[in-house]
Amino acid sequence: MEGIYSPAWMTPEVAQFREAARRFAREHLEPADLEWRADRQASRAAWRKAGELGLILPDVPEEYGGAGGTPAHAAVAFEAVAYSGNTGLGLGLNYIVGHYLLRYGTEAQKRRWLPGLASGEVVGAIAMTEPGTGSDLQAVRTRAERRGESYVINGSKIFISNGQLCDMVVVVTKTDPSQGSKGVSLIIVDAATPGFRRGKALDKLGMEGQDTSEMFFDDCTVPADCLLGGQEGRGFYQLMEQLAFERAQIAVNAVGAMTRAYDLALEYVKQRSAFGQALIDFQNTRFVLADVKATVLASSTFADLIVQKWIDGSLDPATASMGKFWLSERQGEVIDRCLQLFGGYGFMREYPIARLYADARAQRIYGGANEIQRELVGRTL
Ligand SMILES: Cc1cc2nc3c(=O)[nH]c(=O)nc-3n(C[C@H](O)[C@H](O)[C@H](O)COP(=O)(O)OP(=O)(O)OC[C@H]3O[C@@H](n4cnc5c(N)ncnc54)[C@H](O)[C@@H]3O)c2cc1C
Repeated sequence: MEGIYSPAWMTPEVAQFREAARRFAREHLEPADLEWRADRQASRAAWRKAGELGLILPDVPEEYGGAGGTPAHAAVAFEAVAYSGNTGLGLGLNYIVGHYLLRYGTEAQKRRWLPGLASGEVVGAIAMTEPGTGSDLQAVRTRAERRGESYVINGSKIFISNGQLCDMVVVVTKTDPSQGSKGVSLIIVDAATPGFRRGKALDKLGMEGQDTSEMFFDDCTVPADCLLGGQEGRGFYQLMEQLAFERAQIAVNAVGAMTRAYDLALEYVKQRSAFGQALIDFQNTRFVLADVKATVLASSTFADLIVQKWIDGSLDPATASMGKFWLSERQGEVIDRCLQLFGGYGFMREYPIARLYADARAQRIYGGANEIQRELVGRTL
């Protein structure tokens, strides 16, 4: 099935870029999926290949190493990667980190990090969640204390994507714990800094190729000019603004993954037979796939709207949150129903549908649990 396809923003040039992203996904992601899951991380070579093709920071200006496109380019790249079923390559994190830098970074911070993040030479991470708090970001305890021309960071983070491979981390800290959300600041930490330590890659239910990890900061001392944007207390505002784009990304990924599930199921039911006929010849199979097809189409249409707003600069947090919770839930339903058509094979990890199923579960949790998304929408009513 086509996936996101809006004629409004799918210009011939974006469609061509999408083809390049799909080719990359077919040639470099699909064949590597099981190997990366066993290794619990993606290969550096794939990061660099994605960078070469302009897939990591598609809408960052060329002067900073990006591909100089628009969010339409980013959306088709995310969708193509999600369609591959290989969730190991955390390109989305470089995208998020890149956009924090582009939007709030000082000129020196942009020049230092963006070209490497775009080329895949530098792997980025964003560390918000802590063992004691995830949804309630204001309650983070990681402390960054100003001492002369440095910040000394102490604390720990958990569930951080790209945790093993990352060369730099944007860390959510408290620079002034007495100020609540106004005491939150984002600090860029070079992973080579003494006092920064990573735990091992966590053992997860799905997305095993993604090196989700714990991180520890023990008197990790960075120069004061690592404060994102150079002004303390802006972190919460920066997070609130950028989280909408992270949620839009999750929404688009949901469409990529559910489209793949539909395609896999359709192919399977045509070649598998039971009781002397192909599975597709059972009315139930056709009804399930008709339902699924309608859900994928409705989901794609919603994602198209989100991408259009993203391009126009009018993507509001509530629409991004609706997209995140609604599409990640449709993703779970669609994949579950498609998996059923595979019978026992659907439960075997060797089959991509089983891995799509396991990986889908995290989409309702990360980027802000779906309950938090409903809260955010609820507040706008
Ligand atoms: C695969 C994976 C990758 C991740 N990558 C990153 C990353 O790169 N960086 C990062 O910082 N974090 C990352 N996370 C963490 C993720 O963002 C958090 O797990 C998530 O925000 C939820 O926080 P928590 O786990 O502390 O759950 P809690 O905050 O303890 O919440 C638990 C549950 O309580 C309920 N709940 C909480 N608050 C409310 C409320 N106000 N109203 C109603 N119900 C509520 C929800 O059901 C929620 O799921 C990742 C997580 C996973 C699984």
